[in-house]
Amino acid sequence: MLIQLTENCSGQELQEIYAVVKGIGYKPSPVKTQFGSYIICTGKARVDIRLVGNLAGVRDVHVVSDPSKLVSRLWKVNTTEIPLGDDMKISRNRFTIGMGPCSIENEEQVVQMVTFLKKNGIQLMRGGIFKPRSSPYSFRGLGIDGLKIFSEHCRANGIRIVSEVMQVSQIGEMHDYVDIFQVGTRNSQNFNLLDELGRVDKPVLLKRGMSSTLDELLASAEYIFSNGNEKIILCERGIRTFEKAYRNTLDLNAIPYLKEKSHLPVFSDPSHGVGVRAYVEAMALASVMAGADGLLMEIHETPERAISDGDQSLNLMEAERAIHRIRETVRFRDGLNHA
Ligand code: PEP
Ligand code: MN
Repeated sequence: MLIQLTENCSGQELQEIYAVVKGIGYKPSPVKTQFGSYIICTGKARVDIRLVGNLAGVRDVHVVSDPSKLVSRLWKVNTTEIPLGDDMKISRNRFTIGMGPCSIENEEQVVQMVTFLKKNGIQLMRGGIFKPRSSPYSFRGLGIDGLKIFSEHCRANGIRIVSEVMQVSQIGEMHDYVDIFQVGTRNSQNFNLLDELGRVDKPVLLKRGMSSTLDELLASAEYIFSNGNEKIILCERGIRTFEKAYRNTLDLNAIPYLKEKSHLPVFSDPSHGVGVRAYVEAMALASVMAGADGLLMEIHETPERAISDGDQSLNLMEAERAIHRIRETVRFRDGLNHA
């Protein structure tokens, strides 16, 4: 059961609600976010919701059978919109394209990317400054100094930044320089990190663990939400299967599933999803048709020389063509004209 509280629910009203919830054998857990206050009630007894629904301070009561309740579509009529300042927002009613290199490599590259994105009307740039690498000897990112340069150029040009945070101690130092925290596939079930990101008033793009089920992804999102942050974007980025012909298997099925189960925006990352440059555009278009609300894609000025993930990065000509086709596909899909 999920109880939505009124905006001005008083301490005394809250105590009364708690008493009633406990009285019917349920355990109440309070949640306060940027958008509202809730009590998650867990228990097994059959309950007449009117017992709670008529109490002062209660706005609404929902019986939510899904294990991840706050992120569930079962209680929320509208879908979640994530404001990013000015007129920019992540929403199911507006298609978002986020592009940039796997890793931020140098200032010159940032300038080139920002120019490219602006020219193509892209408002979100991706780029790692803390990189999770399979080998400890690989480049692990420019760190916070790189993020400052990244941020300076993006801010000056009205471009938002999404960048990966790998551990709790990085949240504070990154906070003022990113617009969206990315949680990578390897940290998708790092519950301490998710808890902390729940205490931050910045959106979180949560990628699916490479061997996580979708319900595990939703449970990870529930960690963030239940700690107080509703601004979550779910992202399918490919999973490990028996298939070895390409890097990962982009699970397109995940997109309609997540959109049905949750009220959160759902993105796809076809770059990591397939891991082969020649197939990335096709998987981007397929993601659009599967219902994605946005795409996160890796691009590079010279992919052959990229420090990381060059094999799956589009060069700028390929990226421009992909943007054009993505927009056409979005228009074909739902008549929207604002990718
Ligand atoms: C990335 O976005 O560069 C990245 C490392 O992604 P993932 O966590 O999906 O591998
Ligand atoms: Mn990458």
